[in-house]
Amino acid sequence: MVWAHKGVNKVEDKRFIEESFPVKEVSEHSAREKNIRHGHISTLHIWWARRPLASSRATSYAALIPAPKDIDEWEKKRQFIIELCKWENSLNSMIIEKARKDILEANGGKPPRVLDPFAGGGSIPLEALRLGCETYAGEYNPVAVLILKCTLEYPQKYGEKLVRDVKKWGEWVLQEAKKEIGRFYPPDKSGYFGEGEGAIPVGYIWARTIKCENPSCNAEIPLMRQFWLAKKPNKKVALYPYVEGKEVKFKIVGDGYEKMPSGFDPSKGTVKGAVATCPVCGYVIEAKNVRKQFQEGKAGQRMIAVVLHSKNRKGKFYRIATEEDMKAYREAEKYLEEKRQKLMQEWGIDPVPDEPTPEGKGKGAERAFSVRNYALNTYGDLFNSRQKLALITFVEKVRQAYEKMIDEGYDKEYAKGVVSYLGLAIDMNAAFCNTLARWENTSEAIKHLYSRQALPMLWDYVEVNSFSDSSGSWNAGWGYYLDVLRFCCRSY
Ligand SMILES: [Zn+2]
Repeated sequence: MVWAHKGVNKVEDKRFIEESFPVKEVSEHSAREKNIRHGHISTLHIWWARRPLASSRATSYAALIPAPKDIDEWEKKRQFIIELCKWENSLNSMIIEKARKDILEANGGKPPRVLDPFAGGGSIPLEALRLGCETYAGEYNPVAVLILKCTLEYPQKYGEKLVRDVKKWGEWVLQEAKKEIGRFYPPDKSGYFGEGEGAIPVGYIWARTIKCENPSCNAEIPLMRQFWLAKKPNKKVALYPYVEGKEVKFKIVGDGYEKMPSGFDPSKGTVKGAVATCPVCGYVIEAKNVRKQFQEGKAGQRMIAVVLHSKNRKGKFYRIATEEDMKAYREAEKYLEEKRQKLMQEWGIDPVPDEPTPEGKGKGAERAFSVRNYALNTYGDLFNSRQKLALITFVEKVRQAYEKMIDEGYDKEYAKGVVSYLGLAIDMNAAFCNTLARWENTSEAIKHLYSRQALPMLWDYVEVNSFSDSSGSWNAGWGYYLDVLRFCCRSY
């Protein structure tokens, strides 16, 4: 940044930011924040375009202190802003206290009032509070309001005891849910690792299916973008499709499995840009006919493989799905109907959301939604039966946690605060637990549907086991939530 100003002190009450700002350095620290996970508010709940804390802190400070009197002061303040904006200094009391003191001095000893009328993900009000300002945050979107309450209001109001209670009741919810529906995710009995190892399925890989249009074929086509399961420098594993009669079957090939057949390219799947190719007869089905099968209810889905993890071994393992795996799924499907009816009577609404998904027609942002082309017409349609069961059970347990807290004599407002975090945790779980969540073969992990800001169709998805401790499970998020909560409590 160039010292462009010549006549200093020309304007009364000119602020530092009007004079100069270390744009380059603050931008670098802001960009670096994207890789920070533990403790960062971005891990509390997704919010679109949440501002980095570094730039929020630096701009707030620079807007609240006076313009420098001379070039020495300019250089000193500039260096201080660069230090202040760093993530590592978020809780550095020496630096933060100095910033607070400067702001108070510049405002006649009174904390300035800061209003963010479109506060969204809460970065600006969080940083204004950290700098000691009297802060107000406004929002119209109810999701953002809940995020703001959990980021700003509850941590200030209740402090670190919140961390203990959120942890305690989060564990309670998990255990209660597991007691009721854990049986639908049985530990591996296939003998994959030999007897008694008790490997846990962390996910089930599914492919949506259509029928081959060739009248002499009629085979069921599993729609898969590609066949890689692990595509890492030191580990290459794939699903290998082969035909038996008129059935497409699979086996697992690659490192640690049967040798990968020569000439097999796992990056070429059965569907590309909604055009499908039948692996049995080679017939090509146009995109509009693929969509038509979905719209006419002729499409289906098939569980292809199971991803396993064992606490005694490093990494993920794969096996082809069996009739046993489908049996557990069908039992969950049956139990869902029973539970859905029960909750419908209790709550007076269908626990499975029936709100319509975005139409997705027209231009611009609307094009990000293509799910309607495939008859995914309500939000409930974005989940398979076992996923629906898992989510409505978690919701029920969070509601019960609130009632139990009240019975145990917790203050009502405080209990509401605690369950608000559990509600955010369900949201994150739902982002992983749907039929638009994909298996990322480069990291061997489940990626939630918001890795893109869209609701595009996904042919093959991974169904998370919420009770495993791997990516996407209920437990995998907790370390993050508690770190953020602690960070927020210590920020004020
Ligand atoms: Zn065919």
